[in-house]
Amino acid sequence: MAYTDESGLYELFDKLGDALQDVEVVKEKKYMERFLKELVSDSGLASYGEEQVRKNLQMGSVDTLLLSDGLRKLRLTIKCGNCGFEEKKTITKRAGEEDYQPGNCLKCGSGLSIQESVDIVDELSTNADQMTTNTVFISSDFEEGNQLLTAFGGIGAILRYKTGI
Ligand code: ZN
Repeated sequence: MAYTDESGLYELFDKLGDALQDVEVVKEKKYMERFLKELVSDSGLASYGEEQVRKNLQMGSVDTLLLSDGLRKLRLTIKCGNCGFEEKKTITKRAGEEDYQPGNCLKCGSGLSIQESVDIVDELSTNADQMTTNTVFISSDFEEGNQLLTAFGGIGAILRYKTGI
């Protein structure tokens, strides 16, 4: 088959692009179906929510980490310059995030300051890499993908074994 003009070529590339996108969505759907299946069957092999998944990641029990592409959060490390007290906190990313005021130290009452601010997607996927956990980014423009964002806080995990978390 010959493409006689440029529009024919563009059409070909368009189709190729769509096909690649379809493959990606099919892959994401498969992971979400697996996650929901484990959840519904109560097998103990699905976990969701930041705190729960974070614990599982630390234990090395996560096989596949599912992160929604709609996740907009920052993980802050907050420190007291006076007594050295340190805590981690997750905040929702929005315009003017630099204005976030960490308040006062619970121990000594001095003003706390933000030591580090990392996008939660980078932070969790780095943790996952360290535990040889597979990270999959899930688009929110198909039904199950949107569910990950709205019903599960944008963070899900398929576990290697039951942890009860
Ligand atoms: Zn302090």
